[in-house]
Amino acid sequence: MLTKRDRNLYDRQIMIPEIGEKGQERLNQAKVLIAGVGGLGSPTAFYLAAAGIGTIRLVDYDVVDISNLNRQILHWDGDIGREKVDSALEKLSRLNPSINIEPVREKIREDNLSRIVEGCNLIVDAMDNFNVRYLLNRSAVDHQIPLFHGAVRGFEGRAMTILPGQTACLMCMYRGPVPEEKSPVIGVTPAVIGAIQATEVIKFLTGVGQLLTNRILLFDGIDMTFKEFRINRNPHCMHCGNIKGKE
Ligand SMILES: [Zn+2]
Repeated sequence: MLTKRDRNLYDRQIMIPEIGEKGQERLNQAKVLIAGVGGLGSPTAFYLAAAGIGTIRLVDYDVVDISNLNRQILHWDGDIGREKVDSALEKLSRLNPSINIEPVREKIREDNLSRIVEGCNLIVDAMDNFNVRYLLNRSAVDHQIPLFHGAVRGFEGRAMTILPGQTACLMCMYRGPVPEEKSPVIGVTPAVIGAIQATEVIKFLTGVGQLLTNRILLFDGIDMTFKEFRINRNPHCMHCGNIKGKE
């Protein structure tokens, strides 16, 4: 049930017919895992907190570095040296004190991910490296919960939504190992992609619209274009290949 405060706080989005009070209740009851509170995690967490997602679990083991501040807008100059999850907890709680923020200061590994994901309705992939993305993908497939993928480099970014057992997963697109290197990025790129990921999460939770499934959206900020490519589920996929489900 929404409180009077909820009705005022979320008034403008409750006015959207596709959301309404029912959709808002769904958002309030949701528990979302955001893996990484850096460039992508910042806008995603801000908008999901503002939209009233009931519980947001944030996972990151890193501390704020001065070189993060050009894009990781959850963290400010005075936060340098502070744990990212603590800095994020403070900002998000100030933005919306009526939601729960659960900070988890851990490095995501194969052996702790099940515990980290436990109880969450979905995973937001806001990581900066593909090794961990594939761990998240595997975990999403194992738990049969959606994964909202986003990645950025320079002025370019991409996003895709994965419903395990139904739509193509990250591993379906696997084309061999990707080098793990520090990539250049300007803050507006994760802002665009993170906002798309947050939009997809809200749509999934409220049951609105067409999700970004079986297609990858590519953003090019230099040419200012969005392109979309069809991604087919790979029946021999190492992660989702043996999962039954509709195509
Ligand atoms: Zn797959």
